[in-house]
Amino acid sequence: MSARTVTILGATGSVGRATLDLIERAPDGAFDVVALTANSQAEDLAQLAIRTRAKFCAVADPEAGGALDTALQGTSIRSAAGPDAVCEAARMSADWVMAAIVGAAGLPPTLEAVRQGAAVAFANKEALVCAGDLFMTAAREAGARLLPVDSEHNAIFQAFDEQQRAGIRQIILTASGGPFRDWSLEQMGQASPAQAVAHPTWSMGAKISVDSATMMNKGLEIIEACHLFGLPQTDVDVLVHPESIVHGLVEYVDGGMLAQLGMPDMRTPIAHALAWPDRLETPVERLDLARLSQLTFEAPDPVRFPALGLARAAFDAGRGAPAIFNAANEVAVAAFLNGQIGFLDIAACVSDSLERGEADGVASVQPSGFEAVLDVDRQGRRLAMDAVKQRVR
Ligand code: NAD
Ligand code: MG
Repeated sequence: MSARTVTILGATGSVGRATLDLIERAPDGAFDVVALTANSQAEDLAQLAIRTRAKFCAVADPEAGGALDTALQGTSIRSAAGPDAVCEAARMSADWVMAAIVGAAGLPPTLEAVRQGAAVAFANKEALVCAGDLFMTAAREAGARLLPVDSEHNAIFQAFDEQQRAGIRQIILTASGGPFRDWSLEQMGQASPAQAVAHPTWSMGAKISVDSATMMNKGLEIIEACHLFGLPQTDVDVLVHPESIVHGLVEYVDGGMLAQLGMPDMRTPIAHALAWPDRLETPVERLDLARLSQLTFEAPDPVRFPALGLARAAFDAGRGAPAIFNAANEVAVAAFLNGQIGFLDIAACVSDSLERGEADGVASVQPSGFEAVLDVDRQGRRLAMDAVKQRVR
């Protein structure tokens, strides 16, 4: 593998750190770090930048700029603060960019990375949900390669034979089912933020952990898959698979299925994207199928997990609906995490916001450009804030 210049957007997060872990373990000279970004964790970011000899680092929060400058004093690492600084990092020439900012906040810098033609490792599913068409078009125009990092999409990317597209019947995303997989609706109504973020198989950031508990994560992933693989949502199935070993499957018309398996450790799909089209050694625990002895699968329960149906409806409605779906979920998850609403209120707020968005026309806006998407996102947040207010406990 020839030396590769890399930038990591969201370097201090769960995916960002896993990426840096692989880069630091790789043979000397394999990767050259260009830029790292974070929201407000200035000291952590500076430490990572010093360790990896990055050239530039940026924090999105303007108030964290002073702390970043201080932490980088005496080094030659350039730094800046504010959302534009994060976009500047994304614009710097790099062969490969990891898009691992959480939420729609990652949309502008990730789009910059795509436009500069880098291979973009896509973890930031929310950006793709809000603006999938925009990203796919920008990638085509810039000749940028999008490499799926989400474990399910990375698995499907490996099993999806583009030459045989006509022979593909459907793809299947697996879901762990989250911590409440076998809880009753009554129990789920009482679930605390601490219980919701305690994921049984994956270790992840807080927002995606709550999304796994509601299965909004799988809803976002259905939409993500439709964009990445150019499929209608009816060709994207979901199976609950609590062991999180089989990450995704592609079913062909001849009855065969191809799947990718591995331990639930994000470093495997990240390494796949980092080295693509080559492969990279990782310290990930080897899969021992004999010891596991059994793998189980079940259909998701649409009553306790309405998120999947909401996502499918939002994707089919198209236009502004997926961006409202995502924005409302971000607002509702934040409100749940700070104790304002209950666990089941998250899906209810998303559903209310989609309905209100349909009624007042926000959902029927065709967000063809970047500004239009950001505008629908803002309106979606406003609708969701109203929905949250009505449910505050
Ligand atoms: P995290 O919360 O651990 O980290 C998020 C990163 O984004 C941090 O570096 C943070 O500083 C940065 N950030 C947050 N708000 C920002 C803002 N407004 N502007 C700029 N930067 C900001 O999240 P994570 O678990 O690493 O997830 C990152 C993305 O990857 C999400 O979209 C998530 O859905 C996706 N993903 C994560 C996993 C996982 O295992 N953690 C798996 C699949 C997909
Ligand atoms: Mg996933």
